[in-house]
Amino acid sequence: MLKQSTALCSLLVAGLCTSATAGVLPESQTTSSWYQDAQTKIAAKLARSQSTKAKNVILFVGDGMGVSTLTAARILEGQMGGNMGEEGYLSFETFPYSALVKTYNVDAQTPDSAGTMTAMMSGAKTDVGVIGVDEDIVRGDCSTVAGNEMITALELAELKGLSTGIISTARITHATPAATYAKSADRNWEDVSDMPEAAVNGGCTDIASQLVNFENLMEQRFAGADVDGIEVAFGGGRRHFLPKDAAYNSADAVSSVEGDRTDGRDLTAEWLAAYPNGAYVMDQTGFDAIDTENVERVLGLFNESHMQYEADRDNDVAGEPSLSEMTATAIDVLDNNDNGFFLMVESGRIDHGHHAGSAYNALTDTIEFAKAVQAAVDATNAEDTLILVTADHSHVFTIAGYPKRGNPILGKVVGVGSDTPAQAADGMPYTTLGYTNGRGFRDLGDETNADATYGLDNANGRQDLTNVDTTTSGYHQEAVIPLSSETHAGEDITLHAMGPGAHLAQGTIEQNIVFHLIENALDLVAE
Ligand SMILES: [Zn+2]
Repeated sequence: MLKQSTALCSLLVAGLCTSATAGVLPESQTTSSWYQDAQTKIAAKLARSQSTKAKNVILFVGDGMGVSTLTAARILEGQMGGNMGEEGYLSFETFPYSALVKTYNVDAQTPDSAGTMTAMMSGAKTDVGVIGVDEDIVRGDCSTVAGNEMITALELAELKGLSTGIISTARITHATPAATYAKSADRNWEDVSDMPEAAVNGGCTDIASQLVNFENLMEQRFAGADVDGIEVAFGGGRRHFLPKDAAYNSADAVSSVEGDRTDGRDLTAEWLAAYPNGAYVMDQTGFDAIDTENVERVLGLFNESHMQYEADRDNDVAGEPSLSEMTATAIDVLDNNDNGFFLMVESGRIDHGHHAGSAYNALTDTIEFAKAVQAAVDATNAEDTLILVTADHSHVFTIAGYPKRGNPILGKVVGVGSDTPAQAADGMPYTTLGYTNGRGFRDLGDETNADATYGLDNANGRQDLTNVDTTTSGYHQEAVIPLSSETHAGEDITLHAMGPGAHLAQGTIEQNIVFHLIENALDLVAE
C-alpha cells in the first residue's frame, strides 16, 4: 500500500500527498535532536534566495588544508572548548554551499601551491611551480614568459575600480599570494638574489619587485588604464624587500643581516616614495596604529621570512598580528571604496605545519584560519559579499584506528568501551593522527614551532609511545616513509561558499572554476 501511495504522490502536488505518510515515523525518531537539526537545515535551504551578483568577494585559501585537516581541526576546536568535538563545525563549514575540487596541475598529479593558485586566480590550469603564466611556459626559462602571461581576478578587479587586498601568514612573495599579482617562470624568484643570471639579463623581474611596482606594471600592460594599485598587503617576507646590508635591519630582525636583495634596492622605501599617503608597518604596534578610515593604503611586512605559527606568535621579536586581526583590519580599509573590493586571505602555515610533521601546528593554524573567516563574515553583509573558502591541495595526513567518541584527537587511540590505549600488533600504542611520509616522530615537549624538527635526523617508523604525551604542542606524529619534508597529497579538497553566487559552488569541479565564480559575481570581464 505504501509503495502505491508514493507512486501516486509523484503525480500530484505535494500538499495532497502528505496524508499518506503522516504519522508514519515514531515519535522517538522525529524528536531526536539529530532528526530535528536536519529538518531545520532543510527548511533553511528551501528558504534560501539565489542572487548572483556581489559587490565584494573574499577568497580564503587554507594552504594544504585537506579534508582530514578540516575534520581533525574541528574536533580539536571542540575539545579545546570542553566538548567531545566531532559534532562541531569550523566557521565556514556552516556555509550553505560546497563543492569538491580537483587540484592536479597540467603536468602534475599531485600539485603545488603555485600551479593551483594560478588556476584559482586566472581561470585556467597551468604547470607546477609557475606563477601567473599558462601551461606553454617552460619552468625556470625567463624567455618563455612573454606572451604566456595570464590576467588575474585581482588585476581585473583593479581595472574595474575595486579596491584590492592580499594577506598571507607566509611570505607575501610566496607562491599563493604571488599568484594574485605576479608573473614568474619560477615561484622561487622571490627576490633578485634568487634568480639565475640569465633570467635577470633576459628582463624578468623578481616577485617582490612586481608587488611594489604593481600599479606601473598594470598601466604598461593595459594601454590607457589608470589603476590605483593594491590597497592592502599584509604578510611576511621582509627579507625580499630589503638590501643585503645590516644597516637596513628592522627592529624585528632575527638574522644578523635581514635583507637578501643583491641589487641594493630598498623596496619598502620605493613603495613609500610612490605612495606618500600610504602606511608601511612591520610589527604589532605599527599594525595597531593603522587609521583604517583615513589611510589610503597599507603595506605590512611582519617578519623577515614567514610569519609565526599561531601557537608560536607570542615568541615573535617585535610582535605581529593574527590572521583574524589582519583580515578585520584589511576589510576596514578596503570597504572605504563604494565600488567594492576583492580580498585574498591565505593561511600559509597550515601547509608548513604538515610539512614539518606537526599536526598540532597545522590544526591550530586551521582553527585561527576559521576565526579569520568568521571575522570576515562579521564585518561584511551576506547580501553583497561572496565569501569563498578553499584550499590549494591536501597533505598525506590521516585520522585512523577506531578511537571512541570524544577521544582526544591528538591522543593515542582508545577504543569504544575502553579506558586504556589500544595496542597495535607490535604491542605498542598508536596515535589517531599520522603521516604517510616525512621526518617522523618527535617528542619536543612544549615547543610551539614545528620547524624545530628540521636539522634533526629523521625518526621514521614505529616508536614506543607508552610514556609519551602525544597531545603536547611539540609532539610530531609518526611517519612511515622517510623524506626530508612531508608531502602534499593528490585527493580532492573542498570549496565552501556563502553570499551572492555561492550556489554555483556545487559538485566536483576543476580548481580553475574558482576564478569563474569570482568573475561571475563581480562581472569582471565585459561580455
Ligand atoms: Zn606545501
